[in-house]
Amino acid sequence: MKKHNFNAGPSILPQEVLLKASEAVMDYNNSGLSVIEISHRSKDFVEIMEKARALALELLGLEGKGYKALFLQGGASTQFLMVALNLLEKRAGYLNSGTWADKAIKEARIYDDIYEVASSKNANYNYIPKGYDIPSDYDYFHFTTNNTIFGTQMKSFPKCDIPMVCDMSSDIFSRAIDYSQFDLIYAGAQKNLGAAGTTLVVIKEDILGKVSRKIPSMMDYKMHISKGSMFNTPPVFAVYTSMLTLEWLKNLGGIEAIEKENEKKARLMYSEIDLNPLFKGFATKEDRSNMNATFTLENENLKETFEAMLKEGGINGINGHRSVGGYRASMYNALPLDSVKALVEIMSELESKA
Ligand code: PLP
Repeated sequence: MKKHNFNAGPSILPQEVLLKASEAVMDYNNSGLSVIEISHRSKDFVEIMEKARALALELLGLEGKGYKALFLQGGASTQFLMVALNLLEKRAGYLNSGTWADKAIKEARIYDDIYEVASSKNANYNYIPKGYDIPSDYDYFHFTTNNTIFGTQMKSFPKCDIPMVCDMSSDIFSRAIDYSQFDLIYAGAQKNLGAAGTTLVVIKEDILGKVSRKIPSMMDYKMHISKGSMFNTPPVFAVYTSMLTLEWLKNLGGIEAIEKENEKKARLMYSEIDLNPLFKGFATKEDRSNMNATFTLENENLKETFEAMLKEGGINGINGHRSVGGYRASMYNALPLDSVKALVEIMSELESKA
């Protein structure tokens, strides 16, 4: 039985992508070599990289608007410091909405002054802070659009005149929003994009080149842009699977189409959490994430039965993060609606047994 994959990471990829990727691992394009063996300077790989970069901009609606897409290494965690190195001159504002935002703040503080515009840490990050001011003389404003661990998601974004920088690791390509309101978006590939090992960075080029410090080459966005995202050996397999996923998404009808599916999945999941008295949602309702639903089982005595039923039903990866406890159902783009149906059926069957 194919398991229903609710893991928060590293990734869930569409079946079609897994199939194409496995064929290409054996023989890429009848070359007699694997996609992970061909030269990254070959025409074949340069085409893969260029297609992935172009598709990312196209699907986000950012083509021809002064943005560049890069596939870098080091995970989203490296972006925490890379953003600061490239953009932080005097002071930046950060929204502290979760563990990853907190980590981004810690890294940036190594370089300069950081102001936390608001935080939900005191409530174990179960909501998205709102109603804060962003000083207009700061270098940039940084926020996390979806808090993977806590299951909260920003539904609207502040308007500000300074560059908006966001960590979109766990909800990029999942919903139709105006992506041109952001100046720099970064996202580890491993949730909605491809195999772990690369991070998509989308930058509006005109925000670069404004800091006085010297930036090491590997950390310098300008360097990566000037080399077409091939400054050093790129993570070829992660870029290839990202390209395949972007193609899959385009053929599906793009972000608008996947958003409809994601809404169906989230509606089904949250209505079970709300209607079933055995379960309780963790995140404040208005800030609930369509990607990661966090909830607890109210009656601990049913834990064993519930978990045996989950195992029997092929439900994989719904244990909550240790800082929240309970359960977390991650419903990334590639998770089929049928998987959510399978989980919800088990939850409701538990209610009838209790
Ligand atoms: N930011 C968010 C929102 C995440 O969910 C994660 C990982 O799950 C990270 C950053 C860290 O990503 P990486 O492991 O690629 O460094």
